[in-house]
Amino acid sequence: MRRSHFELLRPICPACNRSGHSQALCINVVETEADGDVIAGILGCAHCGREYPVIDGLPVIVPDVRRYIQDNLFYIMARRDLTPAVESLLGDASGPGSGLDSIRQHVSSYVWDHWGDQDPQETAPAIGDASPSGVARALACGLEMIADDFPPGPVLDIGCGAGRSVVELAGRTGRQILGIDISMPLARVSRRAVVEGNVDYARRRIGMVYDRRRFGIDAPQRERMDVWICDVLALPFAPETFALAVGLNVLDCLSDPRLGLNEIGRVVRVGGQALLAVPFDWAAQVTPLEGWIGGHSQRGPHGGGGEALLDLMLSDGPLAAGALRREKPTREVPWHVRLHERSCMHYSTHLVAARREVQGRLDDTGT
Ligand SMILES: [Zn+2]
Repeated sequence: MRRSHFELLRPICPACNRSGHSQALCINVVETEADGDVIAGILGCAHCGREYPVIDGLPVIVPDVRRYIQDNLFYIMARRDLTPAVESLLGDASGPGSGLDSIRQHVSSYVWDHWGDQDPQETAPAIGDASPSGVARALACGLEMIADDFPPGPVLDIGCGAGRSVVELAGRTGRQILGIDISMPLARVSRRAVVEGNVDYARRRIGMVYDRRRFGIDAPQRERMDVWICDVLALPFAPETFALAVGLNVLDCLSDPRLGLNEIGRVVRVGGQALLAVPFDWAAQVTPLEGWIGGHSQRGPHGGGGEALLDLMLSDGPLAAGALRREKPTREVPWHVRLHERSCMHYSTHLVAARREVQGRLDDTGT
């Protein structure tokens, strides 16, 4: 956690914010620090007394820290120094569905999507002519749509995954960029890319067979980038902190997409923009059906279409989700998620830009 980002963004206690009290966090303990980058320490709230750990340079600023640590203990404690042969044996022995298996599959797909185009060993397209780094293409397309039309200030990259969009945003906007993600394994990849400028991951070949890939990436302006673990449903920031918020393929990964839109609208400055990409790939175990944006209730005015309902949520009217208002034409961008050498998912992700309206208002699900 870079002190420069902490001082610029002045994070607030997400637990106190939920009960309507805005309390800035303090750095209570620093155990390891290198060049203004806190590697291990504790942030604290003077109002409620809650503590938020900084683990391997990643501050964990979520409303229920205890629950997060209980749910993610395996990922927090997982070793990152395993050699390829030993990791392979541990993978086989722990078997499909194990914690190690879930980390490797998840990281394999996302790192390929974020950084595959910079991997010198990635010489051929994936199955179905799929090409890596769709996230970078979606971001480039979105930034073209908004054409630098946002006020001065920092940029929030929500669900930054393996970090490609953080690096692209730093290079393309010249702003201070904060990437946030709720996944500890992905945030670790992201931080390594941003801080060390390299990627090291197990790329799935088939089944439980993975090939280790390690390569340097093009990541200039590292001092402008940082990665934190935060929950988009309880963003630890005061209203109007960011000039631009980007959320690529994240809305359909939330338990409450409406609350997510509301939170994004809260932290964007008046006149600032939000850039969202949504493949509308809903899963009931992630988002309860009633929270899906489209994909149900086809008798309604939106005909069950996600695009139409998202448009209503970003427009004045009874379905408005907070302060963001769509103002540009939308676009569709191809996005590929590689599962293994014989399988790749092909998506079309829906890109929409929305602006925080002057008279910002939050709906009744907001905080
Ligand atoms: Zn607090």
